[in-house]
Amino acid sequence: MDIVTLFPAMFEGPMTQSLLGRARDRGLINVQIHDLRRYSAGDRHRTVDDRPYGGGPGMVLQAEPIYKALKAIKAAGTRDFGGKQKFYVIYMSPQGRVLTQKQALDIAARPWVIVLCGHYEGVDERIMDFVDEEVSIGDYVLTGGELPAMVLAETVLRLIPGVVKEPGSLLEESFQERRLDFPHYTRPSVWRQRRVPAVLLSGNHQAIKAWRSKRAQSATLKKRPDLLSR
Ligand code: SAM
Repeated sequence: MDIVTLFPAMFEGPMTQSLLGRARDRGLINVQIHDLRRYSAGDRHRTVDDRPYGGGPGMVLQAEPIYKALKAIKAAGTRDFGGKQKFYVIYMSPQGRVLTQKQALDIAARPWVIVLCGHYEGVDERIMDFVDEEVSIGDYVLTGGELPAMVLAETVLRLIPGVVKEPGSLLEESFQERRLDFPHYTRPSVWRQRRVPAVLLSGNHQAIKAWRSKRAQSATLKKRPDLLSR
């Protein structure tokens, strides 16, 4: 995954710590962060934005630096993959399709994804000719595409085989089967007068499975009934 951003340093924590950091160290995922300013026209301020035509507040990211960044990433990747690589370009945008687990699975199956983070008022619309999909993380507006790109990266990359140590846990997670996850408990079995459900201590795997399935269903009915009717 290649991420194009005005703020590469923002990715240092999420991409080097925890699950993604370990997966990167083990060579399971390849995430490259690209500074959009590297592709500026080369002026002293490394400008990549300008005022909007038609007036109004804010600035707009220019098409040319983004085009040059995409071209450079594609050229480098095409060399790596013998000229056969098909890139999928995603623009993080509040106007995109709101990210779901199903969509994350589709994106995870793509061999190479380039993620573009917008800023200010967004990007020059003409760059959309080079974008395959706009992805939103929800119906609200953030200042830039960096946090949304991190959400997308984590959601997608943890689905790559080997990244999550126990693949079984992915299958049981919320949204995998149009239902939420079942409740989890850990030691101690009694905590401040609250007991772990007895079935979980019974060692009866069939009974545990049935209990979990029932509880997953009731959690979905209570918290997200829309998932069942979809
Ligand atoms: N003027 C744009 C609009 O109203 O549709 C909003 C621009 S927003 C301030 C700046 C950038 O943040 C966007 O270009 C996009 O990359 C990112 N962004 C903001 N909210 C987002 C969201 N909910 N999902 C994904 N990206 C978002």
